[in-house]
Amino acid sequence: MKVVFNEAQKRHYPKNFLVSGAQKPNPEVPERADRLLAAALDSGLEQVTPPDYGLSAVSAVHTPEYLDFLEHVHARWQRIEGASEEVVPNVHPNYRDGRYPHSVVGQAGYHMADTACPISGETWQAALWSAHAATHAAWLVLEGDPAAYALSRPPGHHAYADIAGGFCFLNNSGVAAAKLRRRHARVAIIDVDVHHGNGTQGMFYRRDDVLTVSIHADPVRFYPFFWGHADERGEGPGLGYNFNLPVPRGTADDDYMPILDRALQRVQAFAPQAIVVALGLDAYEGDPLQGLSISTPGFARIGERLAKLGLPSVIVQEGGYLCDELGLNLSSFLDGFTNAHKI
Ligand SMILES: [Zn+2]
Repeated sequence: MKVVFNEAQKRHYPKNFLVSGAQKPNPEVPERADRLLAAALDSGLEQVTPPDYGLSAVSAVHTPEYLDFLEHVHARWQRIEGASEEVVPNVHPNYRDGRYPHSVVGQAGYHMADTACPISGETWQAALWSAHAATHAAWLVLEGDPAAYALSRPPGHHAYADIAGGFCFLNNSGVAAAKLRRRHARVAIIDVDVHHGNGTQGMFYRRDDVLTVSIHADPVRFYPFFWGHADERGEGPGLGYNFNLPVPRGTADDDYMPILDRALQRVQAFAPQAIVVALGLDAYEGDPLQGLSISTPGFARIGERLAKLGLPSVIVQEGGYLCDELGLNLSSFLDGFTNAHKI
């Protein structure tokens, strides 16, 4: 299997975010990529660099207005006297039914959900290369690789068609799914990050060609708080094609696996021709974000179950933060997946 990554993805280095109103160091740091790449190579993956896909792939799931905002907002922000180095929003359109403002401060509030996605002068290029990694992994699978791993960092699953949030700017898993859809009628995205994939859900909520499934810590007491409940099932033609499986905080391996099996039964009933695995390693028991209690061997069991679907698979990195076992957890997942993937 190949690991797709470009060093330019490390240029985004967010400094802070707010937790319960207090300023904390932002955990979505470039070192994550170093640890994950080393682990992928340890597991025998071959590193490839993606080509520059321009805006063609990201335009399939993001609005032109939002892409323009992401590309230019930092330079515009710097022209405000006394502005912060990073773009951080401080006012939001609560119901999002108001007008689109000309002001860059207003636009930041419109396009950025929270303080966890600060934008520096390097963010746009890093996020775009992260999306190129996902696009290229999907391309490799379309060209016949049974599976590919996109080391997408910054992550993507909290990003909507026109909103950044939760460390995410461009929805890499959504971009990969859209690429696979060019050749396949049905694609499923299975999100095992500890957080609900709210951006991915929002992006495909009215579509029946991309099934979105997410297992995550119950949002009643966990980010992203407002979405991820079991009764969010899709709308219009998409009704029944969004499947949320919120689980209690602290859920460990033995209680998690039957829930994953339920998710995979739904995927099998949908009969996709390819899948995207939104791989968050932050469900780990020792992850600093402390949502679920999956063990290191537990990630191998998750990988094995996903592989047994026997489908072409694009594995896209989502969350998973610095702790001693971050790399081991990726290796465990990849080893479990590779040993069981027979297509
Ligand atoms: Zn997460």
